[in-house]
Amino acid sequence: MSAAEKILPGLEKYARLFEPLKLGHTTIKNRSIMGSMHTGLEELPDGFDRMAAYYAERAAGGVGMIITGGIAPNEEGGMVMRDKDGNRLFAASKLSNDEEAAGHSTVTKAVHDAAPDCKFVMQILHMGPLAYNDAPVAPSPVKSRIGAFAPTEMDEAGIEKQIADHAECARLAKQAGYDGVEIIGSAGYLLSTFLVEKTNQRTDQWGGSYENRMRFPLEVAKRCRETVGDDFIIIFRIAAMDMLQGGMSWDEVAELSRELEKVGVSIISTHFTWHESAVPTIATMVPRAAFTSVTARVRKEVSIPVITSNRINMPHVAEEVLERGDADLVSMARPMLADSQFMNKAAEDRADEINTCIACNQACLDHTFGGKTTSCLVNPRACHETLLKYEPTDNPKAIAVIGAGPAGLAYATTAAERGHKVTLIDAADEIGGQFNLAKLVPGKEEFYETVRYYNKMIEKLGIELRLNTRADADMLSEAGFDHVVVATGITPRVPDIEGIAHEKAVSYVDVLKGKKPVGKRVAIMGAGGIGFDVADTISHDGPSGAMDIDVFAKEWGVDFKNHPRGGVTGIEPEVASADREIFLMQRKDTNVGKGLGKTTGWTHRLTLQRRGVKMLNGIEYRKIDDAGLHITANGKPDILEVDTVIICAGQEPLRELHDALDAKGVSVELVGGAYEAAELDAKAAIKQASELASQI
Ligand code: NAP
Ligand code: SF4
Repeated sequence: MSAAEKILPGLEKYARLFEPLKLGHTTIKNRSIMGSMHTGLEELPDGFDRMAAYYAERAAGGVGMIITGGIAPNEEGGMVMRDKDGNRLFAASKLSNDEEAAGHSTVTKAVHDAAPDCKFVMQILHMGPLAYNDAPVAPSPVKSRIGAFAPTEMDEAGIEKQIADHAECARLAKQAGYDGVEIIGSAGYLLSTFLVEKTNQRTDQWGGSYENRMRFPLEVAKRCRETVGDDFIIIFRIAAMDMLQGGMSWDEVAELSRELEKVGVSIISTHFTWHESAVPTIATMVPRAAFTSVTARVRKEVSIPVITSNRINMPHVAEEVLERGDADLVSMARPMLADSQFMNKAAEDRADEINTCIACNQACLDHTFGGKTTSCLVNPRACHETLLKYEPTDNPKAIAVIGAGPAGLAYATTAAERGHKVTLIDAADEIGGQFNLAKLVPGKEEFYETVRYYNKMIEKLGIELRLNTRADADMLSEAGFDHVVVATGITPRVPDIEGIAHEKAVSYVDVLKGKKPVGKRVAIMGAGGIGFDVADTISHDGPSGAMDIDVFAKEWGVDFKNHPRGGVTGIEPEVASADREIFLMQRKDTNVGKGLGKTTGWTHRLTLQRRGVKMLNGIEYRKIDDAGLHITANGKPDILEVDTVIICAGQEPLRELHDALDAKGVSVELVGGAYEAAELDAKAAIKQASELASQI
């Protein structure tokens, strides 16, 4: 540590986080790790250059170690898509030859040039039964609940090939300039399927007893170590609590950890799920640092360092984890996607300037699993560093931004960062717009952080903020702004239904803000993201699981203390429902909730099902009157005798101000919901506004 670094105030405040870790032949400069996340850049034609920019920016941001997204050691371990004639359409990144190693060295060079003291580690990911290719392999021909194909059972030669390919991949990673590899032995990928009886039904030396089931992962780790020598980091990622009914017992987890140390693994990383398990482990409804007590138990079993992860998204949370002695290192993958300067800001005691990951998964994992390039809802530059640049302007303008919701805030802060003089005007008495509604939903408390971040940025960037101010076209045209950005957002849609003005009918806005009472029998009209949020809010009883780990454990049936097999075996979730009968409805005949996020939608659907919310599709609304809501369901008329009908029927754009300014010849543009309300969410609003503000 240099003398200059020593005086940074954050280094004392987060003393544990900034403590170097001696690791055999080398030292990790602090306890932070940017964990592995597939970005989708790996497969693009200019992927190595884009990855170089993406990782180098994060290395320069002060993190101690970066672990890449998963790279397959061979074709059968990854994704290969072909057309009907057998031509390759797409192949996920692998590392099995010198040419591929040369590509990786572009990235390792960029990272080490940006921060020579940042360790750069490549994850070796063999997907096993979750691989998408012509010949996926596994210990036994057991198709995963979420896999595309039944894998082929490997014979002795096949097993030897996989071990050898892992070792060769590690050797090539060293050749490419990485400081180490992480071998993934969790999540339902190849190595983990050897460990669990339901996926390993072999009776030879690779199956049966636990000693035999551990043999393959241990052999992979051992051969990698023999191949790369002692001066190379090997991290092994275990499923410390796999969340599978009948999954690994605590004793098995402990034994595996001890054996991994014996075969030369440098660091154990604790992971907490298989992709097919039915407990959320990283979504926003998971409490911060929920799983670190499990890591703490692993740490007691070994003398090598142990990494913890999951929902650790601010420096003080990481510091508390380290202070408790739960782990030696803290992995924060999504938080570094959201803010590449996370650790520099912590070091300078500027944590209030961190653009906090809200654990929404909307632009990262939803994109990854949807085959799109990864990005971040709160930071659209993530993985787009070479395309979206916030460069200083050489033509500063006086810009008025009307509306301090997601789009207006993103535009105002991006334009101000580039050197424009920005005035931000909102009729409300606080910034945030729709964020202020979202943060009221149980499990979405992280939105408070986004509002905090923007408040701080407004102050730091010298944006003139005028709250409680309703801007009109006359005022704006006379004020002499060079450009006006209308981010006035949306107004809730009022469906054209007989009786819509009846006192039973209320808007979701009034319900979420607690301005209107909600009865015991409720119909929710509209089952988009907001319909689900409202159903969650009014069906919920007691404290939010996101804020209370005991509530979360009960809701999802997890026993952190006794660690039965998988942490979940034999535990029934305990549902704390509000005393209400709720109907959640849509007109479409698709499954209710189909449009929700790919990686989180199931948690919302399952939560509401467990609370007894009735989800109805193919509904026609006829009228609302004293009797309730009159509908037609499956061609049959019916009356839902409800006390309250909550309208969650989407939004309409608010564009009047734009049109009036345009008519006066003012330079004006629309952003966010005011531009396009349909399908609009914070992700689209922030992205569009940031892109426009990067160009003015
Ligand atoms: P939305 O997702 O567009 O859903 C609107 C709902 O209203 C649909 O169920 C639609 O279904 C119904 N609807 C539309 N027009 C109607 C009409 N005239 N009469 C009756 N029903 C009508 O909009 P939203 O729920 O308001 O959400 C707004 C945005 O925020 C969306 O983009 C959403 O994805 C986002 N959001 C996301 C999350 C999240 O967790 N990811 C949470 C909240 C909001 P039918 O047309 O089939 O009836
Ligand atoms: Fe975090 Fe959401 Fe960004 Fe993913 S998209 S990194 S979950 S804020």
